Amino acid sequence: MKKAIFPGSFDPITLGHLDIVNRGVTLFDEVIIAIGENSSKEYMFSLEERKKFIENTFKDNPKVKVVSYQGLTTEFCKEIGVNFILRGLRNPADFEFEKAIAHTNRELSKVETVFLLTSTQTSFISSSIVREIIRFKGDYKKLVPNSVRTKKS
Ligand code: ADP
Repeated sequence: MKKAIFPGSFDPITLGHLDIVNRGVTLFDEVIIAIGENSSKEYMFSLEERKKFIENTFKDNPKVKVVSYQGLTTEFCKEIGVNFILRGLRNPADFEFEKAIAHTNRELSKVETVFLLTSTQTSFISSSIVREIIRFKGDYKKLVPNSVRTKKS
């Protein structure tokens, strides 16, 4: 069974992530969305909230699983027996950043990173833009799956 993990912060999940996962499941038998927990990072949504948003989004798709992890992504891949990391690319900045990480991960392990180029409709979306819109009480709902809701809305 070919499995990939899709690691990220998902603070919160966006339509960009949704697009990558929906296309990822056509390439892999299972896509495990792995929410990274970094104690030095401040999140807008708690781990429980981020997990719940993702679980609700994919509740009808048995090929998608959701987990959280701490530490090195490659170590986590080894732990759960996964050989592929799925990542999305939006622009040259993503590429440069992802290239360094993918090369490092290949040095550390045999894990292969598979990149999917963003769809044109979602290429501008990022979790940080969504958080900014939420902070200023704008209409963030067009950029995220229906399961993502702030406490006030
Ligand atoms: P990180 O904190 O690791 O950047 P994110 O949750 O921001 O985590 O992103 C996780 C993955 O989703 C990354 O590979 C990122 O490039 C990808 N991604 C984020 N937004 C989009 C988008 N709009 N289109 C395609 N891929 C995206």
